Amino acid sequence: MCGIIGYVGNKKASNILINGLLALEYRGYDSAGIATLENNEIKIMKDKGRVRNILDLDGYKELQGTYGIAHTRWATHGKPSKENSHPHMDNSNTFTVVHNGIIENYNELRSFLTDNGYTFYSQTDTEVIPNLIHYYFKKIDQEDTDYNNKTNSFENKTNVGNENNYKDKVLEAVVKATNDLKGSYAIEVISPLIPDTIIVARKDSPLVIGTKSDENYVASDIPALLTYTKDFYLLDDNEFAIITNDSISFYNKDLEKYTKEIKNIEWDASSAEKNGYDDFMLKEIFEQPNSVRETIGSRLKLNEACNFDDLEITSEYLKSINKIFIVACGTAMHAGLVGKVLLEKLCKIPVEVDIASEFRYRDPIIDDKTLCIYVSQSGETADTIAALKLAKSKCAKTLAISNVIGSSITREADYTIYTHAGPEIAVASTKAYTSQVVLFAILAIHFSELLGYDNTDITINPDGKTIKLYDIKKDILELPKKISMILEDTSLIKKFADEAYTQKDMFFLGRGVDQTVALEGSLKLKEISYIHSEAYASGELKHGPIALIENGIHVISILTDPSLAKKSISNIQEVITRGAKTMVITNQDLENTNFDYIYKIPETNPLISPILSVIPLQLLAYYISKNKGLDVDKPRNLAKSVTVE
Ligand code: GLU
Repeated sequence: MCGIIGYVGNKKASNILINGLLALEYRGYDSAGIATLENNEIKIMKDKGRVRNILDLDGYKELQGTYGIAHTRWATHGKPSKENSHPHMDNSNTFTVVHNGIIENYNELRSFLTDNGYTFYSQTDTEVIPNLIHYYFKKIDQEDTDYNNKTNSFENKTNVGNENNYKDKVLEAVVKATNDLKGSYAIEVISPLIPDTIIVARKDSPLVIGTKSDENYVASDIPALLTYTKDFYLLDDNEFAIITNDSISFYNKDLEKYTKEIKNIEWDASSAEKNGYDDFMLKEIFEQPNSVRETIGSRLKLNEACNFDDLEITSEYLKSINKIFIVACGTAMHAGLVGKVLLEKLCKIPVEVDIASEFRYRDPIIDDKTLCIYVSQSGETADTIAALKLAKSKCAKTLAISNVIGSSITREADYTIYTHAGPEIAVASTKAYTSQVVLFAILAIHFSELLGYDNTDITINPDGKTIKLYDIKKDILELPKKISMILEDTSLIKKFADEAYTQKDMFFLGRGVDQTVALEGSLKLKEISYIHSEAYASGELKHGPIALIENGIHVISILTDPSLAKKSISNIQEVITRGAKTMVITNQDLENTNFDYIYKIPETNPLISPILSVIPLQLLAYYISKNKGLDVDKPRNLAKSVTVE
């Protein structure tokens, strides 16, 4: 959610800050602002609305500063407005701060500061931060023996001869201020007292530092900086950094300085651009043959055991556990539902899937015999990270599945495996989902091999048909080709979208693993087309929701498991009888049916069919959204990376 950018170098900062904010737009925001510093004077440009609006603000074109900070805000405290937009300053205009996150104890801190003579000009929780920094700085500066020799109060000092001394003091003030904060924050601080310098800190909100020989950058995520650099420092919780154009120094809460390792990120900058597609979402849908291929990588080969170099889980450990939890939010949770089916079938270990925001507060039964798997595309999902910390505190082993190298969740987890899907920019997740499901499939095979089921017959559905791991491996390796086949002709989906986009409500139905895809299709439609939709297990329909089926309502059914086909077809007939218009996504040859549309997808093992059946549903949501003239990549109220709970 929202974003932070910073730049210290020799170029005009304003352009770089705006470009950085534009690269972060996909995360969702309602206001934007930048601050640069030139001739010891802070210049702030901010307002509610789009980043581009800043370009028209008085004075923007004249900004000459070569360093600065920038912010897109997703309001949590105080409505979107100019006053509430970041950057915020302390009362003496000495410290300028941008902040992502939530300060939970801001009311207390506000009262404390008000009692100490501070005034507040916004309704944000953030405004306590620059004032707290000022409060501590003043104390530290007063205590300093030098202080007595100085005639001016620090607010008036433009003399920077004592710059290093000020750097230490401002850093100490920032550390002291953050010690008082409860909640989450990624912050940048600039001040005329420490020219050409940005101080940053983070806790439970993302922040990375991109580095080059004589320029340094700050951002909420790596893709925003890929056009400038591939070398990054990934700031951890409770870490602080002092950044100038040619140095970055890291400190902990005890003000001890230490070094950090640079991470070289392999992603290609063009993968964070549209490359001729109208929208990122469409580009990402069409990237799926490749992203799934990347996820498979060298982990899966037909005649060899799976190879997870990056995962040190042993067969002894797997034999010792009696339960797996999969915890995630939104689309990642839907991928987890397929993960459950795969892990239970192939490993015979009971699996429970939970929503992270529920899991973290419901005191789940976990112990050292539980493996907890957490799925987050960005690796910054606040609820998922909190749910992971909870499991760790109860001695369970934790495994993170993420798309972003070095993201917060991967640093917290005992084990991490990456989807390698490449940057996903559109808010509505598509390629991350298919990669997560593929990764679950390979992981389940890997675990199954570790448990010694290599040659065991696996019963996959109620008709008793059995398969071997080899058969699923073969089907997984064919997925990229089959996804390409689906993407070759999207005309039928377009036609259905042309007819359906005026609808107010829609239904998605499926049985077994198809029900998990129904949930994902329905979520995609809600997210980007704002059409109300419900996803149901087909058999559950007559226990209530069928009352909503009336003439002309559009019902989409997913039907990929031959053993469940007859049952599902009967359920579809029930809605047709009540006047529904139907589209069936299937890999079966359905003859003599009265369905309005049948969308045929290639056949594959039912356990991994979601990777194919979800694609027409992604396209359906996309075309409906386009027909309605909506912003596909940045749907209202949503953010890509949900970094607040
Ligand atoms: N809580 C802060 C505010 O409402 C920051 C929100 C954000 O992360 O953008 O201003």
